[in-house]
Amino acid sequence: MKIAILSRNKNLYSTRRLVEAGQQAGHEVHVIDTLRCYMSMASLKPEIHYRGRVLEGYDAVIPRIGASITFYGTAVLRQFEMMGVFPINESVAITRSRDKLRSLQLLARKGIGMPVTGFANAPDDIPDLINMVGGAPLVIKLLEGTQGIGVVLAETRQAAESVIEAFMGLSANIMVQEYIKEAGGADIRCFVVDGKVVAAMKRQAKEGEFRSNLHRGGSASLIRITPEERATAVRAAQVMGLNVAGVDILRSERGPLVMEVNSSPGLEGIEGATGKDVAALIIKFAERNARPNRTRTKGSRG
Ligand code: ADP
Repeated sequence: MKIAILSRNKNLYSTRRLVEAGQQAGHEVHVIDTLRCYMSMASLKPEIHYRGRVLEGYDAVIPRIGASITFYGTAVLRQFEMMGVFPINESVAITRSRDKLRSLQLLARKGIGMPVTGFANAPDDIPDLINMVGGAPLVIKLLEGTQGIGVVLAETRQAAESVIEAFMGLSANIMVQEYIKEAGGADIRCFVVDGKVVAAMKRQAKEGEFRSNLHRGGSASLIRITPEERATAVRAAQVMGLNVAGVDILRSERGPLVMEVNSSPGLEGIEGATGKDVAALIIKFAERNARPNRTRTKGSRG
């Protein structure tokens, strides 16, 4: 097969591992810088231009689209889809998962457990919003945040009110969430490929911190997950329409609660903690599915 990896940087661990795994399986793998792709919309035969050439002959595309380039990146991916190239994750599913409110609304509708979450726009509604999620302590999250930045624990109602007010004053979009204290500063990352949890790790926040992000000094370790956690992760990925997903779960007294479903989950933490060759599993998934015009997104050459 000829595989394109959409990535801004070929030196990133995840990108390197996917290239390696693809080549080991005998495929031709190219890293394509997402932001260097350009295209003409008018053409009847959809094509992508890249550094003066036309990209041709790809069987599968692996999107590794960072949150900051979602808009352009999903447009490039759509163009691959219109050319009939099989995407590991479809552009619509990536767009869906990047909208945190929309994701939680979809997961809620399907009955998947999540922390009680509220959002509001007007400062006048703050007191009631805080009541809605059960009062302080509570977690306030900037919708645009990643890697734990913009996630704040407000211990008291007063602190919560002033932080929410401040964010609203800056016109930032936020959500307010019940604080799951019993999670003890830990969460579980379930790596889902093709409807199965292929690896799972526990991330533990460093002393004095409640956010377990590895970028915030958290540490990762192997964990055995329960059948309920496994089923929840698989279902969450399915609801989002993602074939490859990182599902973040908090262990609570009322069972597993999904925080987020990530469409470009990193490989370094999970491969390091579990010793599993997750990159090879992603390549195998591509091998099983890459046939021309398998994407559900309309626009095949017809
Ligand atoms: P990001 O997407 O920026 O990583 P998250 O929503 O995943 O933000 O939050 C970062 C971390 O904060 C999580 O990994 C988790 O450890 C902790 N956390 C987030 N929400 C809650 C919550 N409602 N209760 C307890 N801990 C939480």
